[in-house]
Amino acid sequence: MDFDAFKCTLVDTREELLGRLGRTHHHLYEREERVSAKFSEQSQELESQELILNLEEEARAELKMIEEALVRISDGTYGTCQKCGEQVQQKRLIAVPHTRYCIDCAI
Ligand SMILES: [Zn+2]
Repeated sequence: MDFDAFKCTLVDTREELLGRLGRTHHHLYEREERVSAKFSEQSQELESQELILNLEEEARAELKMIEEALVRISDGTYGTCQKCGEQVQQKRLIAVPHTRYCIDCAI
């Protein structure tokens, strides 16, 4: 199997996630303080911050899996299921390039 295409996809996705995390960070920590007069506005503000933090957490988790997949490409273990040791199906790699497991083990 040729892993170059997967490597490109992984690198592109990593760039996209890093960009997204950069923007999230900016939104959360570097914007100007907004003074909310009403309590309802404040709680809405908190809710949207929580949502953003969740998204940030998801992006970080995905980023970590992508980094690990890139390491596996360079050490030659990419495409091998980390649980059963079988070759991961190509269509699964296309759908989820950073996957560690074959379809059977992922369920
Ligand atoms: Zn497996």
